[in-house]
Amino acid sequence: MLRVLIVGAGLTGSLCACLLRRALQNRVHIQVWDKARGTGGRMATSRVSECVGADLGAQYITATKFYKNKHHSLYEELVSSGVLVPMSCSVEGLQQKDESENFISPKGTSHIVKHFLQQSGAEVHLLRHVTSVCLRGASWEVEFSEGQTESFDAVVLTMPVPQILQLRGDVSRCLSEQQGALLAQVRYSSRFALVLFFSRDSSLDLEHDLKYVSNSPCIRYISVEHRKRDTDLSDLGPSLVVHTSVSFGSQYLDSDPVQVQTLILDELHRLLPQLPQPISIKTHKWRFSQVVSSVPGCPGHMTVLNEPLLLLGGDAFTHSNFDGCAESALSMLSTLTETLMTSH
Ligand SMILES: Cc1cc2nc3c(=O)[nH]c(=O)nc-3n(C[C@H](O)[C@H](O)[C@H](O)COP(=O)(O)OP(=O)(O)OC[C@H]3O[C@@H](n4cnc5c(N)ncnc54)[C@H](O)[C@@H]3O)c2cc1C
Repeated sequence: MLRVLIVGAGLTGSLCACLLRRALQNRVHIQVWDKARGTGGRMATSRVSECVGADLGAQYITATKFYKNKHHSLYEELVSSGVLVPMSCSVEGLQQKDESENFISPKGTSHIVKHFLQQSGAEVHLLRHVTSVCLRGASWEVEFSEGQTESFDAVVLTMPVPQILQLRGDVSRCLSEQQGALLAQVRYSSRFALVLFFSRDSSLDLEHDLKYVSNSPCIRYISVEHRKRDTDLSDLGPSLVVHTSVSFGSQYLDSDPVQVQTLILDELHRLLPQLPQPISIKTHKWRFSQVVSSVPGCPGHMTVLNEPLLLLGGDAFTHSNFDGCAESALSMLSTLTETLMTSH
């Protein structure tokens, strides 16, 4: 059986695993590894017991008319299984193109990733940080954590490009000069996400369910999570998600996390002075938040080597949203099936 490793349990990796399983069925053994303790990547949902979970990264899915047609079967699958529902909450300050439709995931955006992972039947290993990828004859030897290795017939790397280039071993060495130059052009924005969890008896008296903030140098976006997802709060406390602006993210990227959290909370209280006291606060730094310069030409993926197959994918090869990841996963699928079927 062909052994395929997909590094990254974000949307690109999970969807790629799912599509590959559907295409090759039991001719392939798929493993998905992620360094994080949960799946989702930048579609992570954070939880505190007895509070509504909160989306740390992606907030909702916007389907343009073009991509709703192009990825019709994916949208239909997610809507028919209840993973996505049309977004019905009130939004202030959203600039949206005509004929686009917004969807939310009632259990959190990580549920989209979990759905595809579950469908893939892949062996998922969390807390597995890949440190090196080495060419060993007709296979790739992949090292994780403390010097442990496994071998694969094909490897797919879906993490942000700077993290791919940090890997030890043969990945960078196998890149052509032109491929290296293309990858060097990829740029990401950075921002912080803050989640405030409140006790069950707290009420968040905000006018809008989601708000794009235009009068703050620090805060760009605020979401009342249960109202975004239309969740019943009978047994749960509310939670609030705050995203900083990109300029704040870049300015404080390497600052003391305690200082950064204080700055964001001070600004939040200036904007929302009536906010009750939270029971728990989580701050997350997205060093690689959204792609601002993708690989030129948005090819969907890059084939580093054909035998044994090594592919690079993810939103850096398209654009940063659901459809960008779907484009990348679909383009990797065609190379994976074609190469694996002809060489084995
Ligand atoms: C704050 C924010 C808001 C956003 N808002 C939206 C939105 O509203 N709508 C939308 O559609 N999109 C949004 N996006 C973009 C969207 O989240 C991303 O485009 C998408 O999640 C990228 O998925 P991916 O699988 O390509 O990469 P990732 O989700 O980054 O997955 C890569 C995975 O690789 C893992 N990894 C990295 N290095 C290693 C290693 N060495 N070993 C093992 N594992 C490793 C990481 O832990 C990660 O899980 C937002 C993103 C952010 C950060």
